[in-house]
Amino acid sequence: MTASAPALTPVVGTLHALQVPIPYPMKTVTVLIDAPRQGPVTLIDTALDTPEARQAIEDGLSAFGLHWPDVERVIVTHHHPDHYGLAGVVEERSGAAVQMLDVEIGRGERYWHLWEEWLPGHIKHMADHGLPPELLATLELDSRRGKARVHPASRVQPLREGQHISLAGQEWEVLWLPGHADGHLGLWNEQESVLIAGDAILPRISPNVGLYAYTRPDPLGDYLQTLGKLEALNPARAVVGHHGPVMEGVQARARQLRGHHHERLDFIREEAKNEPRDAYRLSLAMFPRDLNTAGRRFALAETLAHAEHLHLLGQLARTWQGGAWVYHG
Ligand SMILES: [Zn+2]
Ligand SMILES: [Zn+2]
Repeated sequence: MTASAPALTPVVGTLHALQVPIPYPMKTVTVLIDAPRQGPVTLIDTALDTPEARQAIEDGLSAFGLHWPDVERVIVTHHHPDHYGLAGVVEERSGAAVQMLDVEIGRGERYWHLWEEWLPGHIKHMADHGLPPELLATLELDSRRGKARVHPASRVQPLREGQHISLAGQEWEVLWLPGHADGHLGLWNEQESVLIAGDAILPRISPNVGLYAYTRPDPLGDYLQTLGKLEALNPARAVVGHHGPVMEGVQARARQLRGHHHERLDFIREEAKNEPRDAYRLSLAMFPRDLNTAGRRFALAETLAHAEHLHLLGQLARTWQGGAWVYHG
């Protein structure tokens, strides 16, 4: 162990969960390290690129007598900056194979490579759903700042739903858990009843489910199905991306989150029927509290995911009015 005593939690056999600092309200992200007697040295998720995160992972590796060049495989649960940020750096330092779910490679991962080309679409999407000019004005700069801490890998190998991989000397099934991200990956160990869940389910906070320009058309519909999957799977333990690293009671939490989204759907349906509005104005009703600029954009994307789900179900209509999509009964 190094002097900085990395926060490592044993998961299964040689697999350990490390808490890595991130400059977000969740404070840490879980990075898993596996150094089995046989099989590749593996990282699962990589954190956002900050000096503190690099140091924390370095310390975590050295607790097992390992250094960056020893990493042979990096599995990333989803493309969000706090999980994927350092993937390209690890790849460069170690030559490790970076792996993600095939769906994510075609969507979120691609987003980082086509970022410049996709940015105008991202901005237009937010404007079309009512994001006011003062919040739009800083969107590009904030996005650029965020992107600077993400280093996409140059080659990403696809994992496929239902495929089995070896981790900690045991077999794990690759799961597709879309909603929070289109190609969100889970790893399921039936023997130990352990799920590596990333942000597909979290204690304390509801994973953000947002509709963006580049996402699948109905992320909330996807997420409700994922919650059903998790409820049926009923793992004894899940390793989660934030507020973990390990949680129990996944089945009850999945039910609770489904109830929470249904309440929000009821709320949005009634609000839009009573007073037709664009998604931004609906988001002010759904999240009336004070939020910073980034928080208001998340609130818009989350509200929009609910409004579009209702639209696709035929429970709300939408019309182009005054330069934005207005949802109504
Ligand atoms: Zn995420
Ligand atoms: Zn996350």
